[in-house]
Formats: sequence, structure tokens, C-alpha cells
Amino acid sequence: MAQARRPFFCGNWKLNGSIAESVALATDVRNGVATVRDADVAVAPSFTALHAVAKRLEDGPVSVAAQDCFWEEKGAFTGEVSPGQLADAGCKSVILGHSERRQLLGELDAAVNLKARAALKAGLTPIICVGETLAERDAGETLGRILAQLDAALADMSEAELGRIVIAYEPVWAIGTGRNATPAQAQEVHRFIRTRVASRSAAVAAKVRILYGGSVKPDNIRALMAEEDVDGGLVGGASLSADSFVRIVKEGASV
Ligand code: PEP
Repeated sequence: MAQARRPFFCGNWKLNGSIAESVALATDVRNGVATVRDADVAVAPSFTALHAVAKRLEDGPVSVAAQDCFWEEKGAFTGEVSPGQLADAGCKSVILGHSERRQLLGELDAAVNLKARAALKAGLTPIICVGETLAERDAGETLGRILAQLDAALADMSEAELGRIVIAYEPVWAIGTGRNATPAQAQEVHRFIRTRVASRSAAVAAKVRILYGGSVKPDNIRALMAEEDVDGGLVGGASLSADSFVRIVKEGASV
């Protein structure tokens, strides 16, 4: 990654953990990264554990992310959680457009955009996920798919708003499969994303952090981080163990 950008590692805990388990895991992560000065670190527990984890991590180096939000602030939207409520619970960021939501829950590009803009309004950092399926990659459609998702997600954002987002490239075929993208495959797409952001603002493109996600492990993060446009990791399975997540942060931050 380039010196101009500070590495960022976020653990996506998905649908895992009681409140007590989440607080314990967060505590272990906080203690494990206590000596890490050169990276931003976040964990994303389930909604039910957000407040308790945020309280435990208060004033420390690890921040809290949510895994989704709605785009309205309040009203008759049964089951939804607003960005303002997440901020109130202690969140600093929110993962949006994760492929599991796109594939299993029918989340559309337009919804990702509405959510991201609402999150920005509430002072949260949207971590916007994009990624192609294996069929799309095999058909040579990777960059076209990324372009469509990216343009839709970033539509109608001002330059100042663009400057506050984080983007995560997560090839769907690499998520939870143990098969990570090669550093060269990741770099190709990360560079493509940065170039696309540069078409809106060169200054933002130089600063925007683009995380890689998809079977990140302690033993593959260094090679990924060695690529110029890889600025950190969005980590699923390996973030459920404090030991492996802390090793990923330490290895990744030291490249
Ligand atoms: C994810 O779901 O964001 C992810 C990257 O998962 P995993 O690390 O388990 O592939």
C-alpha cells in the first residue's frame, strides 16, 4: 500500500456471538492490538452486541462497525435500524452492500447508495463492498461488474462525502471459501476502483482506502498488502479468533 494511506483492518463477525462472547472477543482484540500504532482497527459484531462492545472498547484504539443499516432515520420501518441509532450505540462505521446481503437478501445497488448516503449524514463511515461472482469472473465480466456496483453506490455523493468512504473489494468466490484472490488479481481490481474514483476526484482517489476481503489469513495478508492499492482487509472467518485477527493486523500493518 502507499504511505499516504493508513492501513485499516475490519473484522466482520457476521451472524455470530452472544453479547458476552462478543464483548470477550472484542476485549481480546483490543488487548492484542494495543501496541499497534500504524493501523486503524474495527470490529463488526451483530446488532445485539454493538452497544455492549462499543462500551467495552470506549476510548481505546479499536472502533465498532455495524454490518448494515437502513436509509431512513426513523418511522414505520419494522425491523430496520437507522444510521443515527448505530451512532447512538457507539458505531463509527457500517459495512454496506456485503455480497451475502446482495445474494441472500436481494440487496440492490440503489439500496447500497441510499444506505451509504444516510450513513454519511449520520457521521458514520460507510465501508462499501463490491465484488464479482465466479461466473462473472469466468465470463470476463469482473471489471464491468465492479464498475456497475461502484458507480451505483457512489452516485450523488459530493467530493467531501466521497472523501469519507472506505471501499472493500470482496470477490464473492473468495469469501469463506479459503480461496483468496492472488495479490495480482486484487491489485488489478483495486487499481481499477481507484482510477474510477479519480474520475470524480483525484485528491479523494489518492486518499480513499480500498480494503481486500476474501479468505484473508495471517499467512496471506502480507503479500496482499504489498500491492500498491491494497490498503487493508475486511476479514470474515479469521476475525472470529482474536489470535488470528490480531496476527493479520500486525502482519498487515508492518508491510
Ligand atoms: C467477508 O465476509 O467479508 C469475508 C471476507 O469473509 P472471509 O474472510 O471469511 O472470506
